[in-house]
Amino acid sequence: MPKRILITGGAGFIGSYLCERLLAEGHEVLCLDNYFTGSKTNIAHLRDNPRFEAIRHDIVHPIYLEVEQIYNLACPASPVHYQYNAIKTVKTSVLGTMNMLGVAKRTGATLLQASTSEVYGDPVEHPQKETYWGHVNPIGIRSCYDEGKRVAETLLMDYHRQHRVKVKIVRIFNTYGPRMQPDDGRVVSNFIIQALRNQPLTIHGDGRQTRAFCYVDDLVEGMVRMMAKPGFIGPVNLGNPGAVPILRLAEMVLAQTGSRSELRFLPRPADDPVQRDPDISLARAELGWAPSVSLERGLGPTIAYFDRLLGAGEGKAP
Ligand code: NAD
Ligand code: UDP
Repeated sequence: MPKRILITGGAGFIGSYLCERLLAEGHEVLCLDNYFTGSKTNIAHLRDNPRFEAIRHDIVHPIYLEVEQIYNLACPASPVHYQYNAIKTVKTSVLGTMNMLGVAKRTGATLLQASTSEVYGDPVEHPQKETYWGHVNPIGIRSCYDEGKRVAETLLMDYHRQHRVKVKIVRIFNTYGPRMQPDDGRVVSNFIIQALRNQPLTIHGDGRQTRAFCYVDDLVEGMVRMMAKPGFIGPVNLGNPGAVPILRLAEMVLAQTGSRSELRFLPRPADDPVQRDPDISLARAELGWAPSVSLERGLGPTIAYFDRLLGAGEGKAP
């Protein structure tokens, strides 16, 4: 049955793939975005579809829409962008999520929240299971994002308990792919652009910190399955198990680009998590979901995308 679906942050990296996927399934998609980190280019190919509508709006302010499902993705995701205006980041996660829960409460829609592995902070348990409460600095430079997303999860559960709002929480681990922004400072985009330009790859610290990298198509599949699963609230981890040291990622990017770049070691940013690796047994059991694209394979189309972007002169220096 086609549904009317709201995607906040729909013009962002992940959101634009979700718009595409849900339109392909025959749904009507309302893409709501303030274009802070998203872009019209990401959704340009969808605009002629009569089932697609783009709305410029900031979720910090209330809005009245009639929908059956809400994917709440609006929030800057890269440390550079969420720290640019930290107070606004908190407002987006807290006030913005409250506004979207208000829409869900009024319309009876199901709201799926794009939460994050950052709710585990700098974890001391490995791999991270959903039952782990995390190890988060409440007053550091990452707190606006981590604590904002934690409060958003709290709000979902309280709206569910108090008002029976239908909610779902996915905790997304580092996701990459074409349409990442060239200037957002995330490690995959930084390394690829630096490698393509034969500039030094900027390694924070000694590069032994780990991340688990999930290809965007796999993530979107997990999100759609989560929305479709009746009665399952989560939270559920969505990520690609098998954490990779940042230094190893650098080597893989150098090998796949054939770059002559050197490695440049820089100081580690404050509160940068040391180890991060999802336990996805809950996603496997409840959603029958596991990633299918290895990091080796996913880097190919991502590198090709940045290569085209740089060729067109659109990649700003990271
Ligand atoms: P992104 O920055 O590309 O997308 C976020 C989108 O939200 C952008 O289009 C931006 O313009 C929009 N936005 C930001 N604040 C807004 C506001 N106040 N009102 C309306 N729109 C607003 O990031 P992404 O990587 O696509 O991430 C999407 C979601 O997934 C985010 O909520 C992020 O926290 C979550 N997430 C992403 C990752 C990842 O690795 N990419 C990991 C964990 C969680
Ligand atoms: N990182 C790095 N060089 C860069 C950008 C990031 O070594 O040019 C490191 C960063 O310090 C972190 C990891 O790569 O340890 C992932 O960083 P990213 O910003 O992509 O994501 P997050 O820290 O939010 O997981």
